[in-house]
Amino acid sequence: MMTHEIYPAVLDNQYKNKTVSAADYLLFAKGGELLLSEEEGMLRFPKAADFDFGAMRAVYLFSIDDEQFFLAGPGEDESAYEAAVKSLEDAGAGIIRRREILRFLPRKYAFAAALASQIASWYDNNRFCGHCGRPLVHAENERMMHCPDCGNIVYPRISPVIITAILDGDKVVVSRYAAGPYRQYALIAGYNEVGESIEETLKREVMEEVGLEVENIRYYKCQPWPVTDTLLFGFFCDVKGSRTLKVDKTELSEAHWLSRKEAKKELTADNISLTREMLMLFAEGKEPR
Ligand SMILES: [Zn+2]
Repeated sequence: MMTHEIYPAVLDNQYKNKTVSAADYLLFAKGGELLLSEEEGMLRFPKAADFDFGAMRAVYLFSIDDEQFFLAGPGEDESAYEAAVKSLEDAGAGIIRRREILRFLPRKYAFAAALASQIASWYDNNRFCGHCGRPLVHAENERMMHCPDCGNIVYPRISPVIITAILDGDKVVVSRYAAGPYRQYALIAGYNEVGESIEETLKREVMEEVGLEVENIRYYKCQPWPVTDTLLFGFFCDVKGSRTLKVDKTELSEAHWLSRKEAKKELTADNISLTREMLMLFAEGKEPR
């Protein structure tokens, strides 16, 4: 199970030009990160009714089942918005960064918060036209910003990324990143570059990071990953030729072959990431052949 798998709850992510009402969730962001309350790992979202919401701007984000989520912004008179932010902070709310949000519960709200943060950050980064510098305007019926002066249009940016488990029978290549906060086992991963098919990305990344050739590339699943504005494509593949790892030390601090037995001993499900789900599948011998 991964973070976006919130069944039986259903996400409706289609933008609609809706008006906020008292019972809706109204989220606040600062510099693209959400201002939230949490108690013992549980997220709590403010409702519009908690504020003078009629005097603020509220952009519709998405719905989960019959719960609607909006993002607050200052209205003509900014005082209602400022008062709302102050009252949230006085009640103990603080910035929860996107990369931390997914660990909170309940899962569907953690995913909602990560998505809301992704969208808030996109709005924050696209207030002005990148071509002519004038203010961008929200499209009527879709999540798109456009420039009334030069016609430039901007959609939320989502970058494709491959994640791959390279197998040699009962062994898999695991790695750790050289930089960043993630210290768990990782799989080989990388961004799609201009002009590449996703399989070409996979082969290039595997060669660059661990110096292996691979074959029998089989698609497993994909995962929207709001933390980095990416869409992760998970593949299993088999090593072809030499098994010797040549580790790229600028990207990875280490990489080695891990047996199923070791994987089973060392790993537990995190119910968040595609990487962990794929490693758990490998540990149990259930990966696609
Ligand atoms: Zn423009």
